[in-house]
Amino acid sequence: MTGCGRLCSAIVYCSLVKPFYIFNTLSRNVEQFRPGHPPTVTYYSCGPTVYLPQHLGNMRAYVFVDTLKRALRFNGFQVHHVMNITDVGHMTSDADGGEDKIEKTARAEHKTPQEVADFYIAQFKRDCARLNIELPQPPMLCRATDHIGDMIDLIKRILDRGLAYVTPSGVYFDVEKWRGPSQLGRLSRQSLAEQDAGQRLEHSPDKKSPHDFALWVLNQPNHLMQWDSPWGRGYPGWHIECSAMSMKYLGPTLDIHSGGLDHIPVHHENEIAQSEAATGRPFVRYFVHNAFLVGMEGVKISKSAGKFPVLDDLTDEGLNPLAFRLLCFGAKYRSELAFSLEAVRAAQRNLDYLLEFVRNLGGEAVDTVDDSGWVSAYAERFHEAINNDLNTPQALACTLEMVAESYRRRDFRVWNTLRRFDTLLGLNLEQFLQQTREAIFPAEILRLRDEREQARRARDFDRADQLRRELEARGYQIRDSKTGSVLMPKRVAP
Ligand code: AMP
Ligand code: ZN
Repeated sequence: MTGCGRLCSAIVYCSLVKPFYIFNTLSRNVEQFRPGHPPTVTYYSCGPTVYLPQHLGNMRAYVFVDTLKRALRFNGFQVHHVMNITDVGHMTSDADGGEDKIEKTARAEHKTPQEVADFYIAQFKRDCARLNIELPQPPMLCRATDHIGDMIDLIKRILDRGLAYVTPSGVYFDVEKWRGPSQLGRLSRQSLAEQDAGQRLEHSPDKKSPHDFALWVLNQPNHLMQWDSPWGRGYPGWHIECSAMSMKYLGPTLDIHSGGLDHIPVHHENEIAQSEAATGRPFVRYFVHNAFLVGMEGVKISKSAGKFPVLDDLTDEGLNPLAFRLLCFGAKYRSELAFSLEAVRAAQRNLDYLLEFVRNLGGEAVDTVDDSGWVSAYAERFHEAINNDLNTPQALACTLEMVAESYRRRDFRVWNTLRRFDTLLGLNLEQFLQQTREAIFPAEILRLRDEREQARRARDFDRADQLRRELEARGYQIRDSKTGSVLMPKRVAP
């Protein structure tokens, strides 16, 4: 970026600044968010392990990631987001024990591990699209098996700093040496004994301490996915991929790292240890964790339970996937959220209320008029809610109340604000407004619009202007934007 470019983006950022607060698991406090190099934010979120469909609990985690990203953008930050896809090394126990999850499915379904991963990646992407979750593009959406070399390089650095050791069964991270006298986990604040009790670690006799975890696994001839390494043929432990891929794309210190609460005691604790052991620098400024989606009986929805709800279950019931998105907003990300079809149906009623409002706006030229003065109080409340540790229940309530007041006053000049709210809510309201208009505009008007669009693309501006005048004579106007032309009636809302 040129000096001027940097200055300009800093000015845009400063003009939008309102402090953004988020709960940092490292400090156990809600803190004002201050990235290392504003307005840029580097953000890494743990992604899916692709051996079964992602259940609605997983999807809650990704809705949260998406909402956090949108909230940062809402505040003028530019987010560099990386998400991993685990397609090797995640064992049936999070702490190295058992069988590789992908290979277990591959054996059961008589497929290759790559076929299993490809299948569930496609399904994951489809479900994210249906929930309007914007995923990073490759290489920022990165597969573990594409980064084996980066993991090997990182393990070498950890070995060079004396915090790992090589044995016949693998390269292990020396947890006790890393933690020092207190032996407490920085993120979990648990001692190793407390962590052990929760994790039922399986111990290899090669480990110096039962708490050490595998960076690279050796001499497992039954494992299907194997790569050469300086220590022999083998495969990576699960945790090392996140350190390798996050630091490769985002640098040694990340502004934000997120994942579900279940990642705190083992996965994220180990990520901090191995990353900081390699670089000697702080790994993460803000660790952010989402709470679980639970069943009505209060138990975490998980794949190991055998039966779990997925997005298809909702669409099979005739529900809009975005109703699940709205359900997620109904609880703060740090609170448990109870799942039931009834709860999604209730969320669908709120969604329908918003869509109905937008449908009613479809025939009005709401895009061209300024919002009414009374709307600004809602805009203020909404911004405060999201900047207060992502208080989505309040932001949602504020949106619904604004719509109710608009009906009450019979004053529909709220669209610009609602559209801005939707950059956070992600309910595709703008697209819905356009679809509504397509449905209500006469075919002849749409034909003139398309013809004008073609003329504009062909740089035949005389013809485009002529068609614009023709549309205006028939009571319609066109507004051009970077993303295309918006057609609307000339009538202005009361
Ligand atoms: P996995 O595919 O098991 O690696 O999980 C992907 C993401 O979903 C991780 O960030 C998990 O912490 C998160 N997760 C798993 N189960 C739930 C749940 N029931 N509610 C919310 N998040 C979850
Ligand atoms: Zn991870």
